[in-house]
Parts: sequence; structure tokens; C-alpha cells
Amino acid sequence: MTTHVSSWQKDLASAFTNPEDLLQYLKINSKQFSSPARHDFSMRVPLSYAACMQKSDLDDPLLKQVLPIANELVNPDEFQNDPVGDLSALTENCIIHKYQGRVLIIITGGCAINCRFCFRRNFPYAEVQLNSQKEITALEYIRKNKSINEVILSGGDPLLISDHKLKDFIQKLSDITHLKRIRIHTRLPIVLPARITPELIDIFKSSSVPIVIVTHCNHANELSKQVMAACQALNQKNITLLNQSVLLKGVNDHAQILQSLSEQLFSAGILPYYLHLLDKAKGTAHFEVSENDAVKIHQSLQHILPGYLVPKLVKEQPKKAAKTLII
Ligand SMILES: *Cc1c(COP(=O)(O)O)cnc(C)c1O
Ligand code: SF4
Repeated sequence: MTTHVSSWQKDLASAFTNPEDLLQYLKINSKQFSSPARHDFSMRVPLSYAACMQKSDLDDPLLKQVLPIANELVNPDEFQNDPVGDLSALTENCIIHKYQGRVLIIITGGCAINCRFCFRRNFPYAEVQLNSQKEITALEYIRKNKSINEVILSGGDPLLISDHKLKDFIQKLSDITHLKRIRIHTRLPIVLPARITPELIDIFKSSSVPIVIVTHCNHANELSKQVMAACQALNQKNITLLNQSVLLKGVNDHAQILQSLSEQLFSAGILPYYLHLLDKAKGTAHFEVSENDAVKIHQSLQHILPGYLVPKLVKEQPKKAAKTLII
């Protein structure tokens, strides 16, 4: 029997993993990447994401999110391996139950892209992947806790698992009568839009519990025609689409850039949800925007956009019962 490999899986397998290849593709005549940084956290960039970058521009806001550079080796003390306390909150069954009514499940540690600013870049993924045994205990946990009304599929990227597994898991979740929503936190519609196949949309459509998708997009340039089409296809099936971004120095730390992002998200059928301050993970200090500057940028954004296109400015703090709103 031959195993069917979908086109998105091929795209995934052919992602750039060597910085030299990526720079050559972008016609950048430079060796400005860092091998030790790459060694700490490997590079991974799907072609569909690289295609959204400007050629010959080392300052491109998308390239900056993925190219390993020497600044990652500079580590102030407050930048740690588990900045938001996820490890201490993690139960044996891949569930993080920090907030009232909602649990987050780490479905898989894998991602289609490795974002240099990721707060999970130092996370011991192998230990927290959902396997069939953990799935049983996770479902049991949710069944027993009637206060849980929303399950958040997270990762890594939950949409990296096969259609078959996803369908099966959504089905099992929707059999739990106290669940009101299934939420999926994913960057795949943005970085690998080929993943949004008609078959995947059918899986969402056939769920008896409403599906909410929270995409992760940081810059309007990430919203190519193909990405817009994928999101619009989801939107047309009444799937609620929200977006969260991370405020990143040199990438999107200007009100005008965030304004274009919100406008473009709206055209794709997505409403801005959160604008996160950077989680202080080791290796990410060069992306930090101070809270003061963040507030100023956010205030300018409020002046130039309708309220519903202004994301909430938040940060995540260990042991808090919700994201902390910054005003
Ligand atoms: C962010 C997060 C959630 C979701 O929070 P919302 O404010 O509902 O978006 C849930 N659980 C954990 C562990 C989280 O980190
Ligand atoms: S897609 Fe999300 S989880 Fe994966 S590396 Fe990027 S920020 Fe981290």
C-alpha cells in the first residue's frame, strides 16, 4: 500500500532549513546569519512564506522573524527557558489548565516554521506530545471537569497532524456535552496556506461544536493572495477567525504597520484579537519592545482605526488567571 502524501506535506518537507539557501533565494549576497544560533534552534521556512519576503532586503520584516542571527546569543537574566510558567502548569496529559473554563492541549510539538521569537523555542516538546494513552487521560480530565467549556488545541501547530487524527479528536471532543467551543491556535493558514484544503474545511464544518480559529500573523506582507483565499474559504463556512500578533522590534513596532495589518486581516475575514508583548524566552531579547513604547504604539493605533480593528494589548504572566491587559 502506498501512503498518500498531500501537497501541503510535500511543501512542508521542502521548507528551507539552511540559511544560505534562503539568502540565495532572496538574492541577498551576505552570510549574515549565525551558526551557533541555528544550532540552538534550527531554521525552518516554508517556500510559501519565503515567497512573501522582499528580495534583496536583509531588513525584510518576515525574514527577521526566521533568520538565526548572533543577537540571539545575547541573554539578559530575565530571559528564561519557561517564561510564562507553562511547564509548571502542565499536567501529565498534555493539558495546561491555567484559566477558568478553558484548557489548552499541546497536540504536537512540531511547527511548519521556526519563529525566532517563539516562547516555546526552548520547550521540551518530546515530553509533551499527545499520544494515544495521554489522549485518553486528557479526554477523561475534560469530561470530569464540567467547568471546562472550551478546549484550545495548541502546539507547536495543531494543524500539522493528519486530517484523520484531527477529525477523530474533534469528534471525541464534540461528544463531551459541556463543551461549547473548540478553539485552534495555528500559524499554518499564514505560513502554509496549502494546509487549508477542502477536506480540512469539511472536518471543521462537520463538527457539532463551533470551531474558532486563532491565526498568528504579525505583518500585512504575510497575507499573500493565497493566504487571503485560504482564510476567506474558512470564513465562508462560518468559522470564526481571530488573529493574535506579537509586538516585535524591527518587524511591526509602528502604528502604521499594525494599521495595515488590521486592515488586511479584515479583508481576509479575520478580526484582530490580541497584540502580545514578547514573552521573555531565552534567545529573543533583541525583539523586545518596552511596555512604555508598546502603550504609545497602541494608543496611536486607537486613533487611526475603528475600535473593532484594534487588538487588545496584553502580556502573559506566570500564575495569573488571565492574560494581563495593558492600558
Ligand atoms: C492564552 C491561554 C489561553 C487562552 O486565553 P484567552 O484569553 O481565552 O485567549 C488558555 N490557556 C492558556 C494556558 C493560555 O496560555
Ligand atoms: S508557529 Fe507559533 S509555536 Fe511555532 S515557532 Fe512560530 S510562534 Fe512558535
